[in-house]
Amino acid sequence: MKSLPTTLLYACSSNAGKLAEFAQAAGESTSATFRILPLPGIKQLTPPEESGSTFAENAALKALYYSRFTNELVFGDDSGLEVDGLGGAPGVLSARFAAPDATDEQNNELLLAKIAGVSQRSARFVTVIALARGEQLLTSCSANVAGEILPALRGVNGFGYDPLFFYPPLNRSFAELTNPEKFAVSARGKAFRGVLQWLSEANL
Ligand code: IMP
Repeated sequence: MKSLPTTLLYACSSNAGKLAEFAQAAGESTSATFRILPLPGIKQLTPPEESGSTFAENAALKALYYSRFTNELVFGDDSGLEVDGLGGAPGVLSARFAAPDATDEQNNELLLAKIAGVSQRSARFVTVIALARGEQLLTSCSANVAGEILPALRGVNGFGYDPLFFYPPLNRSFAELTNPEKFAVSARGKAFRGVLQWLSEANL
């Protein structure tokens, strides 16, 4: 049987959790095979300032910036939490909600303080993934996953706002899901599958 050609994709991230999530999505593809690696040397590069006012702008600026350092395909992702009762906050400021170098604990504490007494607790994680090569943007995929903000932390898995994000279809918080369970429904996984689908049809 003829094996499928392999497409190499460099991630603009060396975060082990994100890479595992991308690898799970890539492993599901039946129409093409993908190899996902962090961009070689990424830890030595100064990251670009995430100055965009939308997830799409930040994902595109990361992908374009890092595509200067390789001739291969590069993808940049940007994610965050939008809470309806807080006018969409923390949004693109999710990582820096409580302070420029805030910890997950500080961000969760601030979210709990701001949401106290707010009845509209619907929220979503949003991810945009942009694909680039040679400083050209090729495509961009956006996805989200809807849930509700809990009144207290639940669960110990995951990262970021996972312990405060209740996911009704599984009746658990994201921090109560195993990694494969979360990756199957996460905004990041969905957006990345969109990029892989685009690539398997694009014939680059
Ligand atoms: P990034 O753009 O993927 O680095 O995400 C920015 C911030 O959004 C993170 O520091 C987290 O606080 C939050 N975030 C993004 N994705 C997730 C997720 O899947 N679970 C929990 N928090 C997330």
